[in-house]
Parts: sequence; C-alpha cells; structure tokens
Amino acid sequence: MSQAQGNNAGTHSSTLPLHIPSGINYECTGCGKCCSGWSVPMTETDYERISAIDWEKRKDKFVGRNLFRELPEQDQKNGPYTHSIRVGDDGFCPFLVDNLCFIHASFESKTKPTICQLFPYCFNETPSGYYASISFVSVGAVKNAGRALTEQTDYMEQKLGEFKALYPDHHPNWSAIEFVKQMPMTWDEYLGHEAKIFEFLAERGQPLKERIARASIYLNNFYRKQRGVAEVDPSPPAELFGPQGREKNKLKKDDIRLLSTLHKLYFPLKQVTRGDNNFSATAFMLDGFRKAVLAPLSGKPTLRLATVHGTYSLDQLLAMPLDESGEIEDMLYRYLFSRIFGKLYFGAGYGQLSLIAGFHHLIAVYALIKLQARAIALGRGESQVSESDLVACLRQVEKRLGDSSLDGYGAAVFELFFQSKDRCFRFLANS
Ligand code: SF4
Repeated sequence: MSQAQGNNAGTHSSTLPLHIPSGINYECTGCGKCCSGWSVPMTETDYERISAIDWEKRKDKFVGRNLFRELPEQDQKNGPYTHSIRVGDDGFCPFLVDNLCFIHASFESKTKPTICQLFPYCFNETPSGYYASISFVSVGAVKNAGRALTEQTDYMEQKLGEFKALYPDHHPNWSAIEFVKQMPMTWDEYLGHEAKIFEFLAERGQPLKERIARASIYLNNFYRKQRGVAEVDPSPPAELFGPQGREKNKLKKDDIRLLSTLHKLYFPLKQVTRGDNNFSATAFMLDGFRKAVLAPLSGKPTLRLATVHGTYSLDQLLAMPLDESGEIEDMLYRYLFSRIFGKLYFGAGYGQLSLIAGFHHLIAVYALIKLQARAIALGRGESQVSESDLVACLRQVEKRLGDSSLDGYGAAVFELFFQSKDRCFRFLANS
C-alpha cells in the first residue's frame, strides 16, 4: 500500500499490521449528535449487563420507561446483536443526559454497549492486515474534525485491541473475491486495483466526477483486456460533464428503477431503526424490484424522488445548484476514500460483491447523496446546497449502509445492475 493512502502503524499482536488512512482526521467534539437518530444495537452480553442495572433508581427520567427491545429474529441472524435501546421521542438515546452518556458517567466506558465503546472507529480484518476507518455517522468524522488518525497511532492500536476483544469472531472470509462474477482475483491483485482506483480519485486537479469516471474506465478496460476485447479511451467522454451531458446520457428505465429502489433503502421517508423494520437490503431489493416489474414505468420515464420535504423530479433536483468544489467535494471524496480504504464496499466487506459491482454501487450512492442533498436544500427553500445538507445525507447513508445486510437475491440484483460502466456514467451525468 502506498504511503499516500495510509500508514502502516506497525504489527499488532496477532502479526497482522494495522493500516491507518491518511488524510482522515477525528477527535470527539462532544456534540452528542452521534447519540441521536439510531437505535443502538446491543449484543446479548451488552443487554444482560445494562438491563441488569436499576436505571429507575438512578434517574427519574427512566421511571416507567421501557428502555430496550428485542430485535426481530431476522435481524438477530444478520449480525451479532440481539437487542437495541429504544430511541426517545426526541430522537436521542435515552441515556444521553446533558450531552453525556449516563451509562458512562455512572459507571465506566466498558459498561456502555459494545458499539458505543468503539464508535466511530471501525476495523476490518483482511489478508494484508486490519484496515481502520471512521464511521461517517459521526458529525466529527464527516467534518474531518481533530487530529489526523495517522498522528494517533497508539490510540488507534488501543482501539484495535478493544475491537478484537469485543469481536473475537470477526474474521471475514476474503478467500473468494472476484473482479467480476466468475472472475476470481487474489488479494494482491485486488490491492493493485485499489492502488489504481486511489490514484485516479486523488487527481485533485480534476472534478471528482471525472476522477470517479476514470477509475471506472480503468476497471472496465482491465476486464476488456482479460477477455481480449479492445480497450476504450481511458479519458471519460467530454460530454459527460458538460451542459449536454444529461442530454446524451439520459437515465434509462432500469436506471430509474434502480435509483428509486436504492433511494428508498438509503433515505427512507420514515425514521427507520433496528427492530422497527426489515433491515435486509436483500428483502428490500426483492420487494422494490417486484413492485417495479409489476408496475412497469410507462410513457416517458422520469426519476422522481420522494423525501420528507416533498417529491421532486430529476429536473427540479438538478436545477438546484450544488457547488461540488471546496469542502463539499472534500467530504464526498473522503467518504468514497474511507469506504474503499476500509474495504467496506465489496467482498466480505459488503455482500460478497465483486469489485466492479461494489465500486459501481458506490458510484450510485455518490449520485444519490448529491440528489438527496439537493432535495433537502429545496425543502428548506434554499438557493443552493449547503455543507450541512451534505453532512445530513452522508450520515444517513452511512447509517443505512451499516445497518442493512446484503446477500442472496439482493447481491445478485446488485451484480446484474452494477456491471455496466455506461449505467454509472449516466448516474454521474445526472447527479
Ligand atoms: S448508550 Fe451512551 S454512548 Fe451509546 S448512544 Fe446512548 S448515550 Fe450515546
């Protein structure tokens, strides 16, 4: 791995090194926002430890409160969690008192739910080591607040130690990774492709959209070469980014179905938390596509996204200015970079997707984040998208990606729909 992308913090006790991403900062700002908008999941041990405490005796606000809920069987099967903390009517975790965690304040950090002890640090074990990332559910992480992670190696190693102790069974299986379906690749080959993707994404002189397109063309050309097919021009077509880009890259019916289904999954109209709904992306994709096929789009198909602020057509959304430069571009770049560095977008990191499908899904996510940010700005009556609109979208999508699981039918749908570079170009041109 290149030093430009990350820093090898040294070999951990298990002999696998810890890799820390460069350019990513984080220090807790104590804003308390991380403790809102989600129903904190708990392992069985968390639940037994925390529910055994008589909270009513400790604080009046807990009197008569039903603080915990058991997760549905399906959710329990999909992860290590069995219960969750019920979110309060104000959207905050009931244990947040005066912007401090009451469990932590009353006992110690180790009494908190496992996920809160580690949050927002994430680690992913791979054949070449543990890759660290920071959850973008944290406002501090989205804003890149604090010191660089690469300057906090001792602390990061300590967190990794905690992660291993808390999740001793975390050993993702990377043995069957594929470039595209039916085309296996080795881990070293993957790292080679990842280095190339980072190379394209890091070309700061060009718009992010163009850098993403170049990475996609690189992957496409590698595939063509393997199949003995002539490679395409490594530069993305100029019209993709010009004013005529949308005209020449109109969304097709299946693009609209795909974006609409994913939009409902990642930006649900109702606040959805663990235990409230089915968090299986597979079930969602199945349902979304069944409905889409049963009610085929007729006439002139167009994308319309329903949000809590209103329902907006693609034309309305794209008319809302989004200045993808400066901090907004940096936030989007860091988000893509973090998911790729953390290996949280393909293989054992996300639904056992092939590299191509995983990367193209990230492109769809990038497009949806920008469309949703525009919808929020429109709903607020603003004249352009602000950084805070984008922060809200990044936090939301990170939350949903972390909560949803993908397997079987859902993963097959992703493989089918995310093979096409041209589809991704259409997403880029219309975002
Ligand atoms: S348990 Fe504590 S740290 Fe976790 S979300 Fe609730 S208040 Fe925040």
